[in-house]
Amino acid sequence: GRTALIAGNWKMNLDHLQAVAFVQKLHWALKDVKHDFDSVDVTVFPPFTDLRSVQTLLDADKIPFGLGAQDLSVHDSGAYTGEVSGAFLKKLDVSSVIIGHSERREYHAEGDDVVAAKVQAALRNGLVPVICVGETSEDLEKFGASAVPVGQLEKALEGVPAGAEIVVAYEPVWAIGSGQAATPEQAQEVCQKLRGVVIDKLGEAVGATTRVLYGGSVKSSNIASFLREPDVDGALVGGASLKVDEFASIIRYQK
Ligand code: 13P
Repeated sequence: GRTALIAGNWKMNLDHLQAVAFVQKLHWALKDVKHDFDSVDVTVFPPFTDLRSVQTLLDADKIPFGLGAQDLSVHDSGAYTGEVSGAFLKKLDVSSVIIGHSERREYHAEGDDVVAAKVQAALRNGLVPVICVGETSEDLEKFGASAVPVGQLEKALEGVPAGAEIVVAYEPVWAIGSGQAATPEQAQEVCQKLRGVVIDKLGEAVGATTRVLYGGSVKSSNIASFLREPDVDGALVGGASLKVDEFASIIRYQK
């Protein structure tokens, strides 16, 4: 089977000093109690300015969390003021990068073309793209839950070579930060369809190993219900990833 992935998207929260304290506290919270840590991968996605501090900590103290970034440039270097390239992230031992988050689609006008170019930039630099897709409440009313995320994923995967390692995150926009999560059944239905897209585009074997996450108001009280679903392989957690005890409880979920 697939190893569950619990991903913490900090968004624009925690400066580099707070980030170091947070990661140490989280590590201790998990050491404290017997847990099934081997059966779950944990990746944190701090702001760019935190990456070097957190990377040093993970390396020196052998804290077993993966390191991810929240965005990257479509370019690898050059005259692009303010941008951060996948090549630079890779040098910092960053292993994965969030692409197409609804907040970037909405506030930075990132369309499917930019998302696809960023997926290419990630793969070109040896980073696993965590491709976010999801429908707004208006989309949900007009087209149902799956049409928009399926279309977004199809476009994001255009030109991706068969066999590429990716992660898919289904994040219904109406569930993000709203306290109103999708039901496990809703998440399963869309995640299953998204896996179908991965199989179509990248082949049966990649479809079977690709982790499809659910995101949107995930907390310790609902994580287990999502992970019980056959096509939900983990969670992309926002607000609850900023609280040590709450995030530790999510990581220690019991199926
Ligand atoms: P919340 O967990 O705060 O709803 O955020 C979800 C999200 O956007 C993760 O990327």
